[in-house]
Amino acid sequence: MRSEGILMVLSGPSGAGKGTVCRALLEKEPGIHLSISATTRKPRAGEVDGVNYFFVSREKFQQMIDAGELLEWAEVYGNYYGTPLKTVEDALARGEDVLLEIDVQGGLQVKKKFHSAVLVFLLPPSRAALAERLTGRGTDSIEEIQRRLHWANTELQFLFRYDYVVINRHVEEAVATLQSILVAEKCRPQRI
Ligand code: 5GP
Repeated sequence: MRSEGILMVLSGPSGAGKGTVCRALLEKEPGIHLSISATTRKPRAGEVDGVNYFFVSREKFQQMIDAGELLEWAEVYGNYYGTPLKTVEDALARGEDVLLEIDVQGGLQVKKKFHSAVLVFLLPPSRAALAERLTGRGTDSIEEIQRRLHWANTELQFLFRYDYVVINRHVEEAVATLQSILVAEKCRPQRI
């Protein structure tokens, strides 16, 4: 019998490098299904609907909640974000591992519904590194950066409800650790 895939959640403060680490992990492990979230946030320059996110109106987002189409959803920095349930369920049933890059509020909701989900918290090497990365990427205003740094402190309070913590000193090292976590999780007796 082929067992279900692993549902891995990657969370962490904005600027921890979640996006970069996810992309690098998918290059190494192309079989992993990356979930595409729905969001009410406006697309940033270069973002493509259906690739980075499904960009939807607030009305449409509310309809998705009402229809039970979202595995989890949360308000983050004044916008709504949610994970479409069906694509995740289908990929897991096909035996594919699924990666969700979502915030801590969403991560904890996922764990309630899928007890076997593996929650990984990605941390930057220091607070200074976090601020540097947020400023360096040049996509957000000063107010937005301050808002994200403030929220990072709140998110950190949830760290101990996660299964693993990975410090993102170097992308390759963080990716190798995530690969090891997947290997270890597949060795759990309940998955065999
Ligand atoms: P950004 O606007 O920078 O792309 O994402 C902002 C935050 O929303 C990030 O922390 C990201 O992980 C989180 N996020 C993205 N998609 C989802 C989702 O589907 N659900 C939840 N709960 N958070 C999400």
